Amino acid sequence: MHFKICTIGELLVEFLAKEQNQRFDQAGEFIGPFVSGAPAIFADQVAKLGFPVVFFSCVGKDIFGKMCIHRLKSDGVIIDGITPHNKANTGSAFVTYKGSNERDFIFNIPNSACGLLSFNHINENLLRDCTHLHVMGSSLYSFRVIDAMRKALDIIKSKGGTISFDPNLRKEMFDIPEMEQSFDYIMEYTDIFLPSESEVSYFINNNENEQQTMFKLLKKGIKHIVVKGGAKGAKYYGLDEQGHLQTLHVDGYKVNSIDPTGAGDCFGATFVSLMLAGYSVEQALQYANASGALAVSKKGPMEGTSTLAELKHFLFHTSIE
Ligand code: ATP
Ligand code: MG
Repeated sequence: MHFKICTIGELLVEFLAKEQNQRFDQAGEFIGPFVSGAPAIFADQVAKLGFPVVFFSCVGKDIFGKMCIHRLKSDGVIIDGITPHNKANTGSAFVTYKGSNERDFIFNIPNSACGLLSFNHINENLLRDCTHLHVMGSSLYSFRVIDAMRKALDIIKSKGGTISFDPNLRKEMFDIPEMEQSFDYIMEYTDIFLPSESEVSYFINNNENEQQTMFKLLKKGIKHIVVKGGAKGAKYYGLDEQGHLQTLHVDGYKVNSIDPTGAGDCFGATFVSLMLAGYSVEQALQYANASGALAVSKKGPMEGTSTLAELKHFLFHTSIE
């Protein structure tokens, strides 16, 4: 099946605290730079699977920017939509870890090069043969980026293309009002919705349970919903041919979780790609589950992306226990 995916948003370098429970207000060692940014990880995972993907972002004219572009290019991402910007340096982030799944971030995104991404950076020629747009909620950090995203969304939709949406909320971003306002607009056009368990409550109305909310969203036009549950796996919601709620669940694989960053992005990229490639929901879910498990087994946000062969190997040699 012919398809081409595009995604838009933050591209940055990330520095990881070396020790668990390391703090931001005491001197400590950080490892990096690692190439990062949720939509960048998503694009990298799509490319690793062997599918075409265009990524729109901005980097500074600095070595970090070169490193980001080089990494994405060598993994097969179409990088013509990444603009080196004169006015700012490449974005960056610092991350510390608490327990197995809790992280604190300090982001330098809105004032960085990727924070300056705007309407004019979305080159229509590059979008011409794109059939699917993936929207990361974390990328909607300014009116400029929201404008850029709407341009891409309108172009893709006007050609009959499809949209996937991962809210990817970070507690550090809750005070960005533009972001919240744009969510309603994006949800109207979403075909594949990929929230995390912790984000579902944001979309649930008073006195509704998760099932009722999911059913309502499906009735409104979203075709597939997957709620990502970290080590527990993921839950799928869809409608069968009679319009009844259909649910599926995959248990997470028992893996040694080294770094949770990127799991959701890899999961989403694999699920979306394989759905577009014509796999069944069950198969796409299995592969996505493996993709998320492999992502957490590697240190570094983008270091755990997998090829289709690696996912197949993992699926055939690992059992959920
Ligand atoms: P993030 O936004 O932090 O990247 P997320 O909340 O979007 O993450 P998660 O639920 O953490 O996404 O992870 C996505 C998927 O990856 C899970 O649904 C599961 O399939 C897999 N996964 C994540 N963590 C683990 C783990 N510790 N062990 C096994 N599989 C995992
Ligand atoms: Mg996420």
